[in-house]
Amino acid sequence: MLSGMKSFSKAKTNLEQYSTPADIAADALWNMFLNKDIEDKKVIDLGCGTGILGIGALLLGAKKAYFVDVDDEAIILTKKNLAMFDKRFSYDIIQCDVQEFNKRADVVIQNPPFGVQKKHSDIGFLIKAMQLAPIIYSFHKIESKAFIERLSQEQGFRVSTIYEYVFELPKTADFHIKRRHKVKVGLWKLEKQL
Ligand code: SAH
Repeated sequence: MLSGMKSFSKAKTNLEQYSTPADIAADALWNMFLNKDIEDKKVIDLGCGTGILGIGALLLGAKKAYFVDVDDEAIILTKKNLAMFDKRFSYDIIQCDVQEFNKRADVVIQNPPFGVQKKHSDIGFLIKAMQLAPIIYSFHKIESKAFIERLSQEQGFRVSTIYEYVFELPKTADFHIKRRHKVKVGLWKLEKQL
């Protein structure tokens, strides 16, 4: 179902737009589902892009999804992709910077900018996610391990699992030299410490 969704016509480099590949999104969401973090839960898809992560969560029985993105095209794509499914999903789509979003939920799912263009732009997403929900699933480059461990501790969270994946990034910008390159990523599950 996820592989049939519409994606960005041209990804904006400054926003580090990159859609999670459908097979990885499906596998990641299935892991979250098995952890009992999806069914009947309110989820936030922070930096939703095409909406793939939040839509996948709704398909697996999430009670409600919030889709948040600053970009016009992302909002349009999310609406179009939601409309492809003939289901009565409960959701809100909010166009704003993640820093301005303040609704609480059970789980945040995000594939934020990795900070390749703007160093550590994923910090803002992580700290915001920690304010919004007690459970977070967040994609980052595998090299971010030490940094995420430290940040989680500082914010009262603990890293409970890291699922490893490989993203094959296509050439999306003129300054990219290789046609495709593989990037090792992790999906971190972070849990608030009680
Ligand atoms: N979650 C999607 C998209 C990931 S790409 C997926 O997994 O496929 C990251 C998304 O974050 C892009 O859609 C980009 O527009 C959005 N984004 C980047 N910076 C943002 C910000 N400061 N506030 C809100 N959205 C932002």
